[in-house]
Amino acid sequence: MSSVAEIFNTMEYGPAPESEKEVLSWLGKHERVFGHYIGGAWTEPGQLFDVMNPATSKTIARVSEGTKADVDAAVAAARSALPDWKGLAPHARARFLYALARGVQKHSRLLAVLESMDNGKSIRETRDIDVPLVARHFYHHAGWAQLLDSEFAGYEAIGVVGQIIPWNFPLLMLAWKIAPALAAGNTIILKPAEFTPLTALCFAEIAHEIGIPAGVINIVNGHGETGAAIVEHPDVDKIAFTGSTEVGRIIRKATAGSGKKLSLELGGKSPFIVYDDADLDSVVEGVVDAIWFNQGQVCCAGSRLLVQEGVAERLVAKLRARMEKLRVGSPLDKAVDMGAIVAPVQLERIRELVQQGVSEGSTMWQPSWACPTEGCFYPPTLFTDVQPSSTIAQVEIFGPVLVTMTFRTPEESVALANNTPYGLAASIWTESINLALDIAPKIKAGVVWVNSTNLFDAAAGFGGYRESGFGREGGREGMWEYLVRQGRGSRVEGRGNVRGASRRKTAFDSTSMQSSAEGAILPSTLDPQPSTLSSSSLSSSSLPPVDRTPKLFIAGKQARPDQGYTRRIHSPSGRVVGESPEGNRKDIRNAVEAAHAAAKGWARATGHNRGQILYYIAENLAARGGDFARRIDEMTECGKRRAKHEVDASIARLFTYGAWADKYDGSVHSVPIRGVAIAMNEPIGVIGMACPDEYSLLGMISLVAPAIATGNTTIVIPSADYPLAATDFYSVLETSDVPAGVINIVTGDKDGLAKVLAEHDDVEAMWYFGAREGVRMTELASASNMKRTWATWHERDWLDAKDGEGREFLRAATQVKNIWVPYGE
Ligand code: NDP
Repeated sequence: MSSVAEIFNTMEYGPAPESEKEVLSWLGKHERVFGHYIGGAWTEPGQLFDVMNPATSKTIARVSEGTKADVDAAVAAARSALPDWKGLAPHARARFLYALARGVQKHSRLLAVLESMDNGKSIRETRDIDVPLVARHFYHHAGWAQLLDSEFAGYEAIGVVGQIIPWNFPLLMLAWKIAPALAAGNTIILKPAEFTPLTALCFAEIAHEIGIPAGVINIVNGHGETGAAIVEHPDVDKIAFTGSTEVGRIIRKATAGSGKKLSLELGGKSPFIVYDDADLDSVVEGVVDAIWFNQGQVCCAGSRLLVQEGVAERLVAKLRARMEKLRVGSPLDKAVDMGAIVAPVQLERIRELVQQGVSEGSTMWQPSWACPTEGCFYPPTLFTDVQPSSTIAQVEIFGPVLVTMTFRTPEESVALANNTPYGLAASIWTESINLALDIAPKIKAGVVWVNSTNLFDAAAGFGGYRESGFGREGGREGMWEYLVRQGRGSRVEGRGNVRGASRRKTAFDSTSMQSSAEGAILPSTLDPQPSTLSSSSLSSSSLPPVDRTPKLFIAGKQARPDQGYTRRIHSPSGRVVGESPEGNRKDIRNAVEAAHAAAKGWARATGHNRGQILYYIAENLAARGGDFARRIDEMTECGKRRAKHEVDASIARLFTYGAWADKYDGSVHSVPIRGVAIAMNEPIGVIGMACPDEYSLLGMISLVAPAIATGNTTIVIPSADYPLAATDFYSVLETSDVPAGVINIVTGDKDGLAKVLAEHDDVEAMWYFGAREGVRMTELASASNMKRTWATWHERDWLDAKDGEGREFLRAATQVKNIWVPYGE
């Protein structure tokens, strides 16, 4: 036996295993075989698949594979439970959520051990992090249920929601999905990952025990095909997904044009940035939590360590020393730092990527000790000499593998951090709060932790930028994902297409076009006048109108369309009222470039400045209000009064967003640390927008104004039928101090141009207001870079301030970044 002195020297731990007795008895009670939980009851087991404990490679249960019929039954159960659940008083739903939180706490030990056995993660994490956060999530959302009517007035549950979750935080992801959905009054079909279904089944039992009404929560197990059946089910109103970007993209495409609301929480390759004044010992512990937490199988893992050159060598030496002391072993051992990798296939993927890193020339280092040979274990791994372009620096490894790169200046650190298509999270380590808060907004990520990492709480939203997905989970911002404006269910049918959409074809009378000498196409009505006119006979009435080539508006200037094509614009009764230029792919490309060039400066302009410019636009529009009203009446034959009304409403709308520009504040979330989580509303970046076909001026201003008020730059495709109010608007913009590139206007074939914008990888969001087919096209084409879309075919009353302006528009124009700043010594 070792003496105390020897133990003190070696600091060896003895084994401290957590008992699995309770889990074995729970599994035994179910004879280790599970059906689905549908309509408040367990289904008979069907075709079964094995569930393995990755630490032992032994099968611990068998679970039914969900068929299409199972999904149909679950959706039907959720649909029939919806009216009563949605109709419950908020306080009643709050009571159920509160009971779920209590139920989770009561069974916390069972859940923690079951999670460790199912997933392979260490009991320290399931017991101290996952399960407490699950309970916290239900408590927090019991609060939102209680406050629903006052805090989300005018909004209601979306309906039946399908939720698909991954294997890395099985129970926590369930809570992140189920709690807000229930609080808002939705009913649910949830599919756990095939590797880790057990805690969801245990949770179903807890929900049953506390009396959640039948059909409100349905759990259907299965593989990807079961998930796909949920996604494609016509009676599901919203899909919430967490998992790989690859599957996220498939889901984006599968739901395109269906009207289903979608939130996606996808992969990441998050930077962990260390400046030379950071406390390196804290940094080392931070790295342990960033990349070796949950064996690195964390979507927001700090997997890219970016270190300022001067301290890199010292930090790497400290890290190696720390890694030498990490302990990998049985997940149920309380003294273990890292458990098992979830499954052999994931272990193989990690091995392959590490091998690739070595063969691409990076230096790999692992501690001297060996992992257990039974089960799926992989040691903590550190790469140095990594090029930013190498595979291991770009691809999400989803394992305990850290890659290190260096930088010299803060500017370089930002460039390196943002050198990824992802944008989920980032950690910033420096003793200078000024530097930290200067860098945080520059990083493209939904969550930024200052001198900390992997902090989560129900009160603070979590979610990505760019290809890490869209939507937030947690906090007030997460609740919006499960709500819709009253009476405006996103899938309300039968409202028809918007006015004007059906007559687009006849308005573009291409047969009356003829080629000009330069290859441009001019309308045949602009025939050259006879050249016999002598100068003495010139009188203004006999002269042809001065030929005004219709132009686009790009980079603050009127620009000829690339191909010189124009389209003749007719009024509804068939009168030619003018021409508008026909933009093409190249014009869009130029507009996107201009919008990008302007984006940085405009995003940094103060709210006050942006507001001033919006007021100035309003002022100049008012000065020419009569002209605009005449133009609208001429184009649409809507009558003088209505045209004037539209111009007046446009001026008022500009005032609304001039007012909002310095008032759409973020908030400070109350999170349970000594610190704050600052939720900032950040602009999305470059937004492409296809405007409604009706209300050609007001519709356009209703979209552009909130976007620019919040710091975005825009490429605008005006109404295809009535674009002349937009082309007249150039001169208003030119005299209103709008910086070049903030608003770019490209007229022409609305759907064709919208598709080019939606496919463009440098456009960060796409808005489309028009026909349903256009909505589908926009959502499909936007899957390429997972851009945020706001696409709708429902008619809106643009004249009504409730329908046509406000927070709904501001939310679409922004994304929330949560910056966690701990304080104290
Ligand atoms: P997936 O994205 O494939 O799985 C996530 C969930 O989606 C699972 O429940 C899965 O079911 C389900 N699913 C799979 N295909 C479809 C489909 N076509 N339609 C609907 N649902 C579907 O992730 P994996 O588990 O396969 O892991 C692969 C990689 O993804 C990892 O190596 C990692 O890089 C990344 N990943 C990222 C996560 C994150 O949080 N960002 C989480 C998990 C993985 P089933 O499990 O039964 O196949």
